[in-house]
Amino acid sequence: MPVSEAWLQRLASARQQRVDHQRWRHRQVNTLGTLDFAGNDYLGLAHNPRVQAAQAEGARRFGAGAGASHLVSGHLEVHDALEDALAEWTGRQRALLFSTGYMANLGVLQALADSNTAIFQDRLNHASLLDGAVLSGARSRRFHHRDSADLERLLARSSAPHKLVVSDGVFSMDGDVADIATLAHVSQQHNAWLMIDDAHGLGVLGANGSGCVEGFDSQAVPILVGTLGKALGTAGAFVAGDAALIEHLIQFARSYIYTTAQPPSIAAATLEALAIVQREPEHRQRLQRHISYFRQQAQALGLPLADSHTPIQPLLLGNEPRTMAWAAKLAQRGIHVGAIRPPTVPNGAARLRITLSARHKPEDIDRLIEGLSACQREEAACPA
Ligand SMILES: *Cc1c(COP(=O)(O)O)cnc(C)c1O
Repeated sequence: MPVSEAWLQRLASARQQRVDHQRWRHRQVNTLGTLDFAGNDYLGLAHNPRVQAAQAEGARRFGAGAGASHLVSGHLEVHDALEDALAEWTGRQRALLFSTGYMANLGVLQALADSNTAIFQDRLNHASLLDGAVLSGARSRRFHHRDSADLERLLARSSAPHKLVVSDGVFSMDGDVADIATLAHVSQQHNAWLMIDDAHGLGVLGANGSGCVEGFDSQAVPILVGTLGKALGTAGAFVAGDAALIEHLIQFARSYIYTTAQPPSIAAATLEALAIVQREPEHRQRLQRHISYFRQQAQALGLPLADSHTPIQPLLLGNEPRTMAWAAKLAQRGIHVGAIRPPTVPNGAARLRITLSARHKPEDIDRLIEGLSACQREEAACPA
């Protein structure tokens, strides 16, 4: 058999397996006009006219692209200003921009960990953290979700010279929040460094919107990762911490060094988004009202809500066909929610991932609730 024939057969059989397991994934063009309950634009800043204007102005002033990597000639004033603003906001000495959260996590873990390091991760951590650990060559251990006793047991058993504990701040498929105080305490007890990836908490949680680590300094959480594509409405990510950490990453994080710097227009837009987050708590407050209202209405219907008080509000439907059917029925009504199934979540834990945004109107949430109620009624009338 010719080489390319063998390759194509191998790929086709992997795809066929996806189909057989009913795990084929479709992209949908997200058209304007669909009611979107799947995105991560929690504060509506991706559509904020001031953020949009700052992006356009940034492109005119600094160029459509950075033109080079940060260490060559792509590190512009606006990047530097954004790093300073992010450091100040998170109460850290310094911050370092990355092109995406995925790359930030790969870069941090690859730069900090090696074969003498053991990395301890919450089982439900984001894929980029798991991939970063593989890339680093460190030994990886996973502890039960939000289970500090399990983490302690693994830490106590480890003889690795260097230990790093890693957790999402807000878990992206469940919406629950890591217990930062306990993680910090346990890590210190076992001489481990702690890294928190607060992709979904920044801008949303905390009195000042600075995330689930608000109130925890860099002693408690030495490595903080945040992303800019969620509540801040733009794109990219940053790592915040002490100056020595940031200097180390600039020298050693390959996903920082060997890539073109973030377009300066994005940095300019993010500076504006950050100013809005800091000065206008009303967006956060409106989002909180939506979360309470949605939960109250969903509870009244007896829907399988998760224990989440963040904008991520999963409905735990359990089996995959049911989850797909509900999502399809909502889509017919012009409502887009995430249908999340294995391997993104464990077997039997398929769910609708509903996310709320300050951009929604109360009537939008009413429409969603009506749609969910219709799914329930149709299921009762004709059980699968
Ligand atoms: C979304 C997400 C990322 C990836 O961030 P991108 O900027 O989209 O690449 C990393 N970590 C967590 C926990 C996330 O939810």
